[in-house]
Amino acid sequence: MCFSSSGLPEKLVLNLEAAGYVMPTPVQMQVIPSSICNRSLLVSADTGSGKTASFLVPIIAHCSQVRSQKCTDKRGPLAIVLAPTRELCLQVEEQAKVLGKGLPFKTALVVGGDPLAQQIYRIENGIELIVGTPGRLIDLLMKHNVDLNNVDVFVLDEVDCLLERGFRDQAMQIFQALSHPQVMMFSATVNSEVEKMSNSLAKNVIHISC
Ligand code: AMP
Repeated sequence: MCFSSSGLPEKLVLNLEAAGYVMPTPVQMQVIPSSICNRSLLVSADTGSGKTASFLVPIIAHCSQVRSQKCTDKRGPLAIVLAPTRELCLQVEEQAKVLGKGLPFKTALVVGGDPLAQQIYRIENGIELIVGTPGRLIDLLMKHNVDLNNVDVFVLDEVDCLLERGFRDQAMQIFQALSHPQVMMFSATVNSEVEKMSNSLAKNVIHISC
């Protein structure tokens, strides 16, 4: 598989090439086709493997497809990426902006430490992807500042760290606000706690190890 022959939107392939991504990494080769088939996944992958693009590419392709159908009642967000730290969220959002450039794909960064009003303004103006930490997203959810009804894809990045930092209940609370999303979980280590989390979030999960 190479990006240009994988049925992805042309503009997305051009953005990948412009970023220097010509051939998919091993994790991308496995994750992208399974994700496009709507499968829920538990992926054991380290930082440096290209895991971020492995979930962003199918998310961007999905959002472009939904937006090209001009379904006006399908308000965003259409996808959520939860990550344990503000720094990781910043990196993921940055890569999302680069890969989604020129496509109908807008992002909102939802992390503590930034003004809440700005995040709410951005969401209300229409976005496709939220990248955030669990605590701040729960704040917005509780205050009814975000409607998660149309979220089709729920990504948990660095699940092992999310659990170590005590975010299990908050991640579950966010998940319960969604209606049957595809779930993609990424973790450097897949221990029994990660497996338990995976079982609570999805059935028939494909396990990928790179
Ligand atoms: P990650 O594992 O997501 O933190 O990515 C590690 C680094 O690999 C990042 O700097 C990405 O920009 C880069 N990268 C991801 N996918 C590819 C690819 N297919 N070809 C070249 N570089 C890539």
